[in-house]
Amino acid sequence: MYQLSSSYALENSPLQTLHDPLFAEKQVTVKVKRDDLLVLDEEMALCGNKWRKLKYNIHFFYREKYRQIVTFGGAFSNHIAATASAGKLLGIPTHAIIRGELIWPLNPTLEFAETCGMLFWPVSRRAYKNKSEAGFVESIIPDIYGHYIIPEGGTNALALQGAKELPTEISQQNECQPPDYMLTCCGTGGTLAGIIQGKAPSTSAIGIAVLKGGFLEADIRNLLDCSGAQKVDKWLINNDYHFGGYAKFNSSLIQFMNDFKIKHQFALDPIYTGKLFYGAFDLISKGFFPKKSTIVIIHSGGLQGIAGFNQRFGQLLL
Ligand SMILES: *Cc1c(COP(=O)(O)O)cnc(C)c1O
Repeated sequence: MYQLSSSYALENSPLQTLHDPLFAEKQVTVKVKRDDLLVLDEEMALCGNKWRKLKYNIHFFYREKYRQIVTFGGAFSNHIAATASAGKLLGIPTHAIIRGELIWPLNPTLEFAETCGMLFWPVSRRAYKNKSEAGFVESIIPDIYGHYIIPEGGTNALALQGAKELPTEISQQNECQPPDYMLTCCGTGGTLAGIIQGKAPSTSAIGIAVLKGGFLEADIRNLLDCSGAQKVDKWLINNDYHFGGYAKFNSSLIQFMNDFKIKHQFALDPIYTGKLFYGAFDLISKGFFPKKSTIVIIHSGGLQGIAGFNQRFGQLLL
């Protein structure tokens, strides 16, 4: 088998109380699950929810004696970076089918993945839409063999198994009390689906969508069905904080993130957790959560994306 250790290999990533005058005014308790500190590599690419989602996929890879990993993603994908890093640490060859052309010089995400030894197979956006069809991978990568295919974003039934451990850890760290609310951000919805599966019945799970489109509820239902979950209620998707769509932003988001970093001494990423925390603070200020609620916000990581974002848009983020 394999051995990987993280800064929190033996203990869980910490659950920290966040202090803000707003929370006192609204009489809510806010805690942050610091999965940004769940880091398995020096470059901080194999971390957070991307590690949780890969973990059981890697177990499965070894158990079934696969030889290489093939996965998919856009040029700034945290999942691509995480998979590349896992491949390097474990000595597993990795391939990524990239949506759209490769642009040189490579952005920091792909540059990192390349230094890990990942091979890129760029395909047009149109061709990429067919990526889930049988035979697609074999048509793109000649002579590929012994390959284990992990879907875009790392989301499959085994990913849910990893994400499902989050609510259990959180309840244990919260003096064995499940919190009233758990908030996470949603790309594919795999992380939220795992949380929904693992949460206590009394906890409401809220997903902040970072993409526009409103497809998440159906996708999450589908993921839950495929992994044989029983019907669970008390969960919802909020579509109010995507800022126009994936990787879209405005000056108030940037301002919020920079203020947050100064005040709370940890960083948020612009694609996912920035929007999550912005949404959480906004919902609290609007009185969405009843008084005395305990709200856990999951910091899912993603900090490797800051360099690419700053390179693309100018040094907007501290
Ligand atoms: C990929 C990612 C997400 C989205 O996770 P899904 O399971 O695809 O919904 C959230 N946060 C961070 C930091 C990510 O990298």
